[in-house]
Amino acid sequence: MGSGTVAVIGAGVVGMATARALQRAGREVIVLDGEDPGRKTSFGNAGFIAIDHVLPLCRPEVLRRVPRMLMDRDGPLTVHLPSLPWLLPWMARFAFAARNSEVKKGTDAFGVLMAEANAAWKSEIQASGLGELFRSRGALYVYETDDGFAAGARERSLQLAKGTVMEIVSGDRAREIAPGLSPRIVKGVFYPHGMHTVDPWHVVTALAERFTAEGGRIEKAMVCGFDTQGERVTAVRTAGPPMPVSDVVICAGRASGEITRLLGFRAPLVAERGYHVMLEPTNVRFELPVSPAERGFFITPMREGLRLAGTVELGAPDRPASWHRAELLKKHMQDIFPGVGGAETSRWMGERPSLPDFRPAIGRAPRHRNVYCGYGHQHVGLTLATATGRLIARLMEGEALPAAMAGCDPGRFG
Ligand SMILES: Cc1cc2nc3c(=O)[nH]c(=O)nc-3n(C[C@H](O)[C@H](O)[C@H](O)COP(=O)(O)OP(=O)(O)OC[C@H]3O[C@@H](n4cnc5c(N)ncnc54)[C@H](O)[C@@H]3O)c2cc1C
Repeated sequence: MGSGTVAVIGAGVVGMATARALQRAGREVIVLDGEDPGRKTSFGNAGFIAIDHVLPLCRPEVLRRVPRMLMDRDGPLTVHLPSLPWLLPWMARFAFAARNSEVKKGTDAFGVLMAEANAAWKSEIQASGLGELFRSRGALYVYETDDGFAAGARERSLQLAKGTVMEIVSGDRAREIAPGLSPRIVKGVFYPHGMHTVDPWHVVTALAERFTAEGGRIEKAMVCGFDTQGERVTAVRTAGPPMPVSDVVICAGRASGEITRLLGFRAPLVAERGYHVMLEPTNVRFELPVSPAERGFFITPMREGLRLAGTVELGAPDRPASWHRAELLKKHMQDIFPGVGGAETSRWMGERPSLPDFRPAIGRAPRHRNVYCGYGHQHVGLTLATATGRLIARLMEGEALPAAMAGCDPGRFG
């Protein structure tokens, strides 16, 4: 391992997990963020360690659904129509990346990442004392139609090929696993190794506390520039004096593109919006995340109540929130678990940092030898945070990444 200070830009779940991995590898680490840790997208996710996620969202069958998405404001995946001109370049890249050869690059990379994800979380849970915040109760996807179940066949066969353990269950068995499920559920897929957190925000704050307790520094500052010398960044610029660094890791979520631009390469990220609604945990008799797959969201029992989280809305940044999509989650809940969940206690909107090929950028930056990347984790940033941190720490130690990680090369957008 080298010496000198590593600056990690961004204190979301990816930045804090990376900071912890580097700290354990013996580096002096400073985390820079204009916000308190975990206040952006990492705050309100569904809490699921989604190791079943081996197929990128960008694929031919999703591409074929785009015209319908443009018309359907209430579907699980929708496009904000007025944003269309802004979105077009991103959508063109999305279409390009939906070719089978590109999808394969994604499945190969996810194979590596998901194989590492659970183990990486388990060791972080131990190292940072996070046991209270996690549960290993499995996860259940449920289907209301045989067609909906059949549509997931390709993903399931890929999961099996990558070693994911699953059990296909009848509607009745699904109702035993998650009491209260509606009779409309005809099938389910149970993932016995599924794990979830009961408080995603506190996972980040607990990582931050442990990081500082073990000598790490967190500074409330936005990064706005860099000093460079040849192929190296020598200092990070914030509103304060330049901060000399030996290495930099970019983990700034959906704002990472603004930082990569300063370093001469592209990260065409969109903010893929999702919502959560917290309900009082009235009549909740299940302990695992349940996803009504055809409706594209999760129902997760959490410390503070029942969280309904998900749906996808693509659009330009800085537009107003579409709260009707949060309302929709509550309506879905009553269809799937009638009579379960009480009054709403809070609601939230989050912006998943999504690259058009739905593969994160993990690895060395193209132009500067001491800049590393960990962003673009879209729907699986919680899942992949600790695996990302471990891979970046290994890379800094001089190890090469597995060949399949080439699909996540940060320089692939030029
Ligand atoms: C509704 C919803 C449900 C989800 N469910 C799940 C799930 O169940 N499982 C899962 O794995 N994932 C889930 N996700 C996705 C997951 O939440 C994200 O992928 C993850 O939080 C991204 O983490 P991050 O650290 O990259 O970004 P963020 O949490 O957004 O953190 C980035 C940080 O960088 C900081 N920053 C930005 N610019 C600068 C700068 N110039 N200088 C310094 N700091 C800067 C920001 O202030 C921010 O704190 C869900 C997302 C949503 C929206």
